Amino acid sequence: MGFVAGVEAIVGAGYVKRDAESLERYGTDALKRGHPADLVVLPADTREIAAVVRLCNEHRVPVVPRGGGTGYTGGSVPVEGGVVLGLDRLNRILRIDEESLFAVTQPNVITGDLQDAVERVGLFYPPDPASLKECAIGGNVAENSGGPRAFKYGVTTHWILGLEAVLPTGEIVRTGGKTVKNVVGYDLTHLIVGSEGTLAIVTEITVRLIPKPPVQATLRATFPSVEAAVGGVTGLIGRRVIPAALELVDGTCLDAVAKYLNVTSLAPPGTAAILLIEVDGLSELVTGEAARVEEACRAAGASEILRATSEAERQELWRVRRELSTSLKVITPLKYNHDIVVPKGRIPELFQLVERLKRDYRLRIPCFGHVGDGNIHVNIMVGPEDLDEQARAHAAERVLFEGTLALEGSISGEHGIGFAKAKYLGLELTPDVIELMKRVKRAFDPNGILNPGKIFPNGDPGALPIAD
Ligand SMILES: Cc1cc2nc3c(=O)[nH]c(=O)nc-3n(C[C@H](O)[C@H](O)[C@H](O)COP(=O)(O)OP(=O)(O)OC[C@H]3O[C@@H](n4cnc5c(N)ncnc54)[C@H](O)[C@@H]3O)c2cc1C
Repeated sequence: MGFVAGVEAIVGAGYVKRDAESLERYGTDALKRGHPADLVVLPADTREIAAVVRLCNEHRVPVVPRGGGTGYTGGSVPVEGGVVLGLDRLNRILRIDEESLFAVTQPNVITGDLQDAVERVGLFYPPDPASLKECAIGGNVAENSGGPRAFKYGVTTHWILGLEAVLPTGEIVRTGGKTVKNVVGYDLTHLIVGSEGTLAIVTEITVRLIPKPPVQATLRATFPSVEAAVGGVTGLIGRRVIPAALELVDGTCLDAVAKYLNVTSLAPPGTAAILLIEVDGLSELVTGEAARVEEACRAAGASEILRATSEAERQELWRVRRELSTSLKVITPLKYNHDIVVPKGRIPELFQLVERLKRDYRLRIPCFGHVGDGNIHVNIMVGPEDLDEQARAHAAERVLFEGTLALEGSISGEHGIGFAKAKYLGLELTPDVIELMKRVKRAFDPNGILNPGKIFPNGDPGALPIAD
């Protein structure tokens, strides 16, 4: 039996796609530099996944797991062709344990749906990538995703108790368990978290839950400079407030959102940055913390402070942040979105670096991000047809990464390496560390069939641009 017939015998012919539309759709992600798959396979369960992977391993066919396809570094793009394993059908929440505070879920449950489901019973799963209405929990695990709440609640890895996963050789393994404490053997759970689909295919996830914080207060403070906004952040930390969300949006982004929403302005004239701040917890604590936030922002020179008094007003304050990614398209449809991260105290230096890049390379670079974590999204906007601007953008991105590392930061706080940043891995990691990581990869995947061409700088994978 040939390879394709073998796959069809496992999952059923109806779940193997070879039409051009499917191959292209499953061959790209939010990076928008795709490569068509040779075959899209939609298995029903762990057993089918294991059987397909075993066959791929036997035939040395690359296999690439895919969740919601919202990744920004081409992680789910089959750069060497082969099989895209669409996990679409593994989309059920299997259990919510209200007594022991965990949930067990299949990998393609949409993150926002998992949050809604646990909130309905008064529980809380905090990690909240801005893509939460489209991305899947398995993709979050693979990317160790963060979001606005990371400053207070941490990122995905802090909420994962255990996994079921299929190894590239086809074995099904279980790591971790259902308890917060578990120190038996190597911590394979948290090795697989963040491995960008290169070590194992995650087929079941146990996440930790906590009681939902009963009350939130949401504020928006407007500042005449980015430095003043960062001063507000320093001030509130000095007042011992750890907000549940702490987001900075610069003036260029605000202008883009205003244009997108077709309103004259979203902030008073002279605004260079806003902070969106949310504190949560028990009502009496939240009242005190919100007052300290206001005090810190005023002391840092905020020109206006708004505080939501209803859920509708809260949603309105968050609207700017939510519309951001889409709104930047009014500048130009293509962006190189860099998710660099620096120690908080060095954010002003990072913004000075961005100003230099704008000037020296004649680029438009709106910035926003999770300022509490020092994680700033630096969006280098380029014309899709403007090859000169794209070349300047690539030159600037290297300077950005080198500058970020000089500020004791990291070239990726959220989106991972995928293939888009593979050539920069050696800027941050030493050769011996890269070699150690490659040895780990070989231990899991001796034949290199699982998501090849990712993370490690083995040359340009040669991905072809696919039209948006
Ligand atoms: C508008 C927008 C906003 C975003 N905001 C954030 C943000 O705030 N924070 C953040 O961290 N990221 C953010 N992202 C990036 C992206 O949403 C995250 O990386 C997300 O976790 C990807 O999940 P996904 O299900 O879409 O994964 P995919 O894009 O399908 O895949 C991502 C990687 O995970 C692997 N993978 C997927 N499922 C599995 C599995 N079950 N087992 C093993 N490997 C798997 C893939 O092979 C690939 O390498 C944003 C993206 C967009 C488009």
